[in-house]
Amino acid sequence: MFIEKVRHEITLKSAFLIFFITSLATVIRPMMIEQDHVFTYLGIANSVTMGCIFVFFKYSKPKAWYPLLLVYVGLLILAPITFVSGGVNSQFASLFPLIPIFMALVSNGKYTWLSGFTVIILVISLFVSIGVFPDFTYESVPQSKTASRALWLSLAVLLATKLGVEFNRIYGALGNQISKQAETDLLTGLNNRRSVMSFLQSAIDQAKDEKSALSVMMIDLDHFKTINDSHGHLVGDICLKQVAQLIKHNVRNSSDLAGRFGGEEFIVVIKSINAQKAKDIANKIRSSIEQSTISLNNNVQLKITATIGVCTLNGEQLSSVEHCVDLADKALYQGKKEGRNRVIES
Ligand code: GH3
Ligand code: MG
Ligand code: MG
Repeated sequence: MFIEKVRHEITLKSAFLIFFITSLATVIRPMMIEQDHVFTYLGIANSVTMGCIFVFFKYSKPKAWYPLLLVYVGLLILAPITFVSGGVNSQFASLFPLIPIFMALVSNGKYTWLSGFTVIILVISLFVSIGVFPDFTYESVPQSKTASRALWLSLAVLLATKLGVEFNRIYGALGNQISKQAETDLLTGLNNRRSVMSFLQSAIDQAKDEKSALSVMMIDLDHFKTINDSHGHLVGDICLKQVAQLIKHNVRNSSDLAGRFGGEEFIVVIKSINAQKAKDIANKIRSSIEQSTISLNNNVQLKITATIGVCTLNGEQLSSVEHCVDLADKALYQGKKEGRNRVIES
């Protein structure tokens, strides 16, 4: 998510930068050098197009294909001006290798290859169309030099594309690893509190939209302090890991989520479920914890139990994340008061 946001910001800034540079060049170039009017007209058209793209990106919801749109519109702007300013000999051709690099920065490997090959096709077109378009720079370059420049330009674009794809792969994997770590509880491997809370928020929004019910379970291990006190903290950690696995096995699939809420408390969010089914799942979790034994190295077998508070709300009853958690927590507290190792509904 974070990486997508950064990519969109870079795309937006690039669109603005191209708009700014194109506008500036359109105004300044005629003051500095004598040039054909065609460049001024092209410059104005290009500035207006880029301005529109920037406004569109800024005021619409970010989409994965925006960088592709920016690159193709950018090429649409760059291509005519390059064709009429000497083709591969044009000063604008030096910008070509930047295109796949930009794509690698803001998009995926597929789009990077696509942009790279498009630019190479453009270079070939510029080379084979020598003489077809007028050259408003009026420079004459020998054919052999033009051919050599076309070749080196194509190689530079190919190399930039390959490097971009590799860079994209490395930092994509790094980004995935960082977001996975940011969402995972180090000890149990379950989702951490922050990620479950954000999952719960989107599950509430979805349940409200679909008018479906949602269930939140708070699971707290019973008398866990005594396990720590009598067997040590490390044994306590082994218990937490084992309980985490038991909870995970009882949670349906990718649409539901189990996480560690903190300490020896776990939380489970189940989408599209009714109160009875939620209670059944909670009971399955409770009895699987009760039935399991934690074997220690010294042949000691530990038993552990949990109390579970369940809250199931439908679309109209759902308000906030805090409200759901609070209801499940109150049910859990009630369960503790009633003697532990039980499931209580709010
Ligand atoms: P109750 O049945 O009322 O829940 O009793 P309890 O002893 O489980 O509750 P209490 O909140 O008094 O104690 C929770 C204990 O959980 C205290 C703390 O030492 C232990 N704990 C919290 N986090 C960890 C952890 O990461 N590892 C270990 N080993 N223990 C933890
Ligand atoms: Mg507790
Ligand atoms: Mg406890």
